[in-house]
Amino acid sequence: MSALNPSGWQPSMGDAQGSGSELVTSSGDRGLMFEEPLSFEIGALDKCGVDMDEPGGEPVAALGAFLRKSAPDLPGLTEPETVRHYSRLSRQNYGIDLGPFPLGSCTMKHNPRLNEKLARLPGFADVHPLQPPTTVRGAFEAMDELSKWLIALTGMAAVAMSPKAGAHGELCGLLCIRAAHDHAGEARDVILVPESAHGTNPATAAFAGFKVESIPATASGRVDLAAMKAKLGPHVAGVMITNPNTCGLFEPEMKAISDTVHAVGGYVYCDGANFNAIVGKVRPGDLGIDAMHINLHKTFSTPHGGGGPGSGPVVLSEALCPFAPLPFTVRTGDGEAHLVEESNAAAIGHTLAFGRMTAFHGQMGMFTRALTYILSHGADGLQQVAEDAVLNANYVLRSCDDLLAAPFGSAGPCMHEALFSDSNLPEGFGTLDIAKGLIDEGFHPMTVYFPLVVKGAMLVEPTETESKAGLDRFIASLRHVARRALNGDETLHAAPVLAPRRRLDETLAARKPVLVWQRDPG
Ligand SMILES: *Cc1c(COP(=O)(O)O)cnc(C)c1O
Repeated sequence: MSALNPSGWQPSMGDAQGSGSELVTSSGDRGLMFEEPLSFEIGALDKCGVDMDEPGGEPVAALGAFLRKSAPDLPGLTEPETVRHYSRLSRQNYGIDLGPFPLGSCTMKHNPRLNEKLARLPGFADVHPLQPPTTVRGAFEAMDELSKWLIALTGMAAVAMSPKAGAHGELCGLLCIRAAHDHAGEARDVILVPESAHGTNPATAAFAGFKVESIPATASGRVDLAAMKAKLGPHVAGVMITNPNTCGLFEPEMKAISDTVHAVGGYVYCDGANFNAIVGKVRPGDLGIDAMHINLHKTFSTPHGGGGPGSGPVVLSEALCPFAPLPFTVRTGDGEAHLVEESNAAAIGHTLAFGRMTAFHGQMGMFTRALTYILSHGADGLQQVAEDAVLNANYVLRSCDDLLAAPFGSAGPCMHEALFSDSNLPEGFGTLDIAKGLIDEGFHPMTVYFPLVVKGAMLVEPTETESKAGLDRFIASLRHVARRALNGDETLHAAPVLAPRRRLDETLAARKPVLVWQRDPG
């Protein structure tokens, strides 16, 4: 038995099930962890979870050609089978309610249950988007209250609430910028994006019809101001800057960047997905920003990941708010929040809206959660969110930078994310080994190979909701795995060996994805 292998088991490299034990069971299940087949493998069409009447009458003759010739390949399951199938699968899942989720850039923090309680109040949960506005005054009131907070926290002039994710908010901001240039009769078709940007930034700019030009990063991981200046001109519609950036660093020259871009007639979009690090500390409006999305699901805590839900309100400067999309709420002389749509926009002088981002008003459940989160923290509590998020990230950075390379570690403290790389690991060991090793330790891996400007990047975002004791456990595991790599422990290449599945062949999965289950393969 070695210190690295206290229980004495030998990883069996050929074992596709990843048992981590030589004991083979007849069922494939181990202890109370189940080897769950596909529903297609346990289902059959003669089984059903509900009672249904036999279809009556004769098929309509004219439709005969469309009748299926063979039974559909669907898995029929009984109710207990269905419940067990999904409950068993859910036990193989990992979520923020089980442990830390240190994915950099994603801000996976604990989601207070109070948010859920309020979002489930029938007055919020059951509103229908087509209800007459007079019957949903309270919902408008809540949206208006949240708008006011977002405007106050960012120091901006207005907010478009309807975008349904960060990337959707980026699109909304760029469409505002396009509308402003169109209105001024200017044909500008280039958006400048730093190398270190989140992938959604260049994708959104291209989707909005702009050409994307990239701005290099300096050796300290910041936007190269001189290189940006050299690219500015009458063809540049604007720049998209992430601040704090994806290296977990604050852009100290943000105001200078904004002033320079404004001087040549461009607009400044800020990717505000990392607002968690600066909420209550810095107002983007003071940095000259024209548009910025806020990920309510990150900074203002709605459970997210796995595809949703999201909500990405966009705060706008004086210059861009005339172009804000419909609908939105305004508080009028009667003191109540009212909905502004196409029918009444002209009456309040909002005639330049670029259109709509969504059919309706946005994500009511997320508005309620975000407002609850904001009100329960208060202004001082939100400030502490940013302080603790930054403190926690620096604690992780300084607790591990003797074992893992920290590319910008010498540039001073980080913001909310600690960035490491695999550059100091021995030949043959890399970021993937560290990430997979963490799974055996019982931790979800950090973000890997992003940002792209750092080779073999590992981006850890602990968030403010991890306690010191929780961080110490994570740090101990990260250090243990890093030491295994530094010691050249070849068994690390097999990790994870304790998870329900071993390391998958990602190349094969990408090249030859099996997207359709076949009852009779071969
Ligand atoms: C999460 C994120 C986005 C995109 O937000 P979605 O809500 O996932 O669309 C954009 N930029 C950064 C830096 C992010 O972390």
